[in-house]
Amino acid sequence: MKRSARITIHPQALQHNLNRAKEVAVTSKALAVIKANAYGHGAISTAGILYDIADAFAVSCINEAVELREAGIDKAITVLQGHQNSSDLRIAAQLDLRLVVHNDSQLSELNHYTGKHRFQLNLKIDTGMHRLGFHPSRAYSLFNHLKQHSQVNPESLILMTHLCCADELDKKTTALQLNDFKQSCENINAPQSIANSAGILGWPDSHANWIRPGIMLYGSSPFTLKDRSEYDLKAAMILNAPVIAIHDLKKGDCIGYGSSYQCPKDIPVAVIACGYADGYPRHAPSGTPVWVNGKETQLLGRVSMDMIVIDASDYTDSPLKSGDMAELWGQNISVDRIAKSAETIAYELLCNAGNLCSEMGN
Ligand SMILES: *Cc1c(COP(=O)(O)O)cnc(C)c1O
Repeated sequence: MKRSARITIHPQALQHNLNRAKEVAVTSKALAVIKANAYGHGAISTAGILYDIADAFAVSCINEAVELREAGIDKAITVLQGHQNSSDLRIAAQLDLRLVVHNDSQLSELNHYTGKHRFQLNLKIDTGMHRLGFHPSRAYSLFNHLKQHSQVNPESLILMTHLCCADELDKKTTALQLNDFKQSCENINAPQSIANSAGILGWPDSHANWIRPGIMLYGSSPFTLKDRSEYDLKAAMILNAPVIAIHDLKKGDCIGYGSSYQCPKDIPVAVIACGYADGYPRHAPSGTPVWVNGKETQLLGRVSMDMIVIDASDYTDSPLKSGDMAELWGQNISVDRIAKSAETIAYELLCNAGNLCSEMGN
């Protein structure tokens, strides 16, 4: 989509952030999570940028893995949702994809597979997310079943689970999950994988053999109360848009749909060509920060489809003009601040804005 607003992706920030994950979990291997078009950053280009640093890549579904293989990405790829049918199994065999096995119907698909391939598998245990995975009580018997299965590469097996509350550092759930996982895997000799970004940064006990960093690669802090700078993470995506009009509004004038913002005094404002069609959150309220010409200012009134209005009163020395570029999020204003202001999470903003046309920066 070609619009006035655009995102720029910074390869060095992506590399830096993956290196940060590896520094924090120094003995673990890193599965860089590039599902959902690498959280809006472009799956194929991100895979290329992280190729030499990542030990492997992870995507959600077979189709995402096919796209990477077709683009020539020959590194190990884990499919987090695993196979759904026999065709997925054939593709996984052909493209040498690692599959996550989390339910019984996948096991029976595997039993019916007639090809020669021996699959590389992660056995997923549900320790409390209650989304994907087998009950912990089945871990031992399922592991042994897979270990002896004629369609499985026995050396490849990895045990995994997923944390549901790792972003809440004061909650007890993560410790309980870690304990349940440890117990269910007690007599199983295989590598383990537990940690998402919040696990990596907040729960050293979750590091295990393979970490699975996602959001931190893209320069967002997984914790609501901690800024990305505390973890030395850098913005990988910048959302910019130009100023397209300037006005001097009078006390009492209202701005935008619903006239929800009324000027308490005379205020100069600028219109920026970015709205919810560009991935900017419609629920961002007045007061949400916007960066333009070296200064932070704020959104006034409702977000429209293609525009927002910002306060231009702090620019009396060198007034804003059409063509000046605003940063909606990026290096100066973290995507986490915008997410918080709009009562959502950075994951959603990055994925949505990623549907814009993007450019490579440095
Ligand atoms: C998406 C995902 C991750 C990455 O999570 P972040 O919070 O983005 O770091 C890790 N593991 C699984 C199973 C996932 O689905």
